[in-house]
Amino acid sequence: MRTVIYPGTFDPLTNGHLDIIRRAARLFDQVVVAIAVNEGKKPLFSCRERKALAEKSVASVPNVVVDSFDGLLVDYVDQKAGQAIIRGLRALSDFEFEFQLALMNRKLNERVETIFMMPKETYTFLSSRIVKEIARLGGDVSNFVPPHVVEALQKKFRRRG
Ligand code: ADP
Repeated sequence: MRTVIYPGTFDPLTNGHLDIIRRAARLFDQVVVAIAVNEGKKPLFSCRERKALAEKSVASVPNVVVDSFDGLLVDYVDQKAGQAIIRGLRALSDFEFEFQLALMNRKLNERVETIFMMPKETYTFLSSRIVKEIARLGGDVSNFVPPHVVEALQKKFRRRG
């Protein structure tokens, strides 16, 4: 059984993340979308909320599960008996950080490979951070995230505003 871990903050999950998940699901027996608790990043959605939003988004893809983790990613990959980590690459600007992260993870655990995947080009400009900014300012994000994520963003900002 080939299991791959797709880690991230997913605050919230976007159509770009979904695109990568679907591509990975075609290549591996199981994809584990691993939500990093990442409290240090001060996420807009709690880990539970991010997990619920991701679960609803991938409900129609049979070989994808959603989980959350805290601590070292390579330890989590071992615990899940995963073969590799998937990361999305959007542009050159992602490269430097991702390169550093992948090599550091290899230093920590030789056995774990990192695989980079590119989303459909229409998603290369998409990030959770930009989606949150647009939603906060009352803009339409329905082309960038699944409908239930649009609703969750609207609720969050209505409550805050
Ligand atoms: P992190 O905080 O770990 O960067 P994110 O949730 O922002 O978590 O992203 C998780 C992974 O998904 C990262 O590898 C990131 O590069 C990738 N990613 C984010 N947005 C997109 C997108 N629009 N298209 C492809 N990959 C993406």
